[in-house]
Amino acid sequence: MKLSGVKGMNDVLPAEVGRWQEMEALAREVFALYGYREIRTPVVEPAALFARGVGEATDIVNKEMYVFEDKGDDRLALRPEGTAGTVRAFIEHGAYVDGPQKWFYLGAMFRRERPQRGRYRQFHQIGCEAFGVAEPLLDAEQIALLADYLGRLGVRTTLKLNSVGDGECRPAYLADLRSYLDGHRAALCADCRDRIDRNPLRVLDCKVASCQPVLEAAPRLLDRLCAGCRDHLAAVRAGLDALGVEHRLEPRLVRGLDYYVRTAFEFTSDALGAQAAVAGGGRYDRLVETLGGPPTPGIGFALGAERLALILEAMGRPVPPRGPAVFFVLADPAGATEALRLAGALRRAGVACDLDARAGKLKTQFRQAERAGARFALVLGAAEVASGEGKLKDLATRAETPVRLDELAARLGGPG
Ligand code: AMP
Repeated sequence: MKLSGVKGMNDVLPAEVGRWQEMEALAREVFALYGYREIRTPVVEPAALFARGVGEATDIVNKEMYVFEDKGDDRLALRPEGTAGTVRAFIEHGAYVDGPQKWFYLGAMFRRERPQRGRYRQFHQIGCEAFGVAEPLLDAEQIALLADYLGRLGVRTTLKLNSVGDGECRPAYLADLRSYLDGHRAALCADCRDRIDRNPLRVLDCKVASCQPVLEAAPRLLDRLCAGCRDHLAAVRAGLDALGVEHRLEPRLVRGLDYYVRTAFEFTSDALGAQAAVAGGGRYDRLVETLGGPPTPGIGFALGAERLALILEAMGRPVPPRGPAVFFVLADPAGATEALRLAGALRRAGVACDLDARAGKLKTQFRQAERAGARFALVLGAAEVASGEGKLKDLATRAETPVRLDELAARLGGPG
């Protein structure tokens, strides 16, 4: 019986893994520049965490979460996103006593969505969460961090920004929005009609073409913000301007849950087609409290790694090479012994190298060298052993340069 992987869950093969390593290494590097530190939380959490932290009424929790019974009676879930687990850990370890915290994570998330390009059932997010600061300066800094990260990869995106208000201005707006949407019920799709009572903000987010005229004419929260939210938004924009981060106000960009306040943002890319969002985030000043911690403001984002990889691929950005510096081609038994000895010396010096221990035809070994992604090949036989010299063949240009075998490590960039 031939076994295949689970639908919507992908393998990243060695030939492509260089792209992933580049994205991850750069995230660690850039996030550290902004004072963020890595947190690793379990892939499995109590299902109740997501019901409370992501929201019982959301599609993510309602329809898409992988939930299972543990041997006891615990209902567990594969995490559908990273924020809830991070906040759970923040509270559980009492991290709030240490003042503001900036954390980031990288990891697999699971949602039982209909798989398509850019949408998978196991996917990876790279995310940042900052706790303990309500000031708009932090919003601007975090959004700029994400723009910086994407910019270093050469990715061109559009940054959309909005304010979803707060407990002062949103309730009155929601009441108006509800009655407006109610009055146009007949012109809305089934999903929208369903959401009018449960989650009217989310209706604004609907992408169905026939709903657009009604949604475009809907009252805008941006026009109804209280002074606090208006000032906050203005300060975030001023911060972004000062940092040279271009952005566009997008009045219909929403985050559907009650604990989200003020800043909401999204980075989109034309390279992605229908699933255009590469990253999204927002301020969640009431989430820590919702999950049982002390009132602690927070803001975070999550970036989809598969989508970022798709953009990099569409841009034609090469996968960074991860092959060995040199591949030894074994011409005879003396050469094979010397190759093993030299490989040991090179590896001790931190230079990656490899060989095909089958020691077959030279042509086959050269082919293996290319398949391994080696930069150079070096033929070793009795003649090279006797002279202590060989020829380093650049596998891209085919150019050959003589090299002394005892200088190989130094030539190939190792410390020795
Ligand atoms: P969200 O947690 O829904 O705000 O998503 C944040 C980011 O994760 C999105 O902008 C996407 O880039 C990515 N993402 C969300 N769901 C998926 C999925 N099913 N497959 C791949 N990427 C996803």
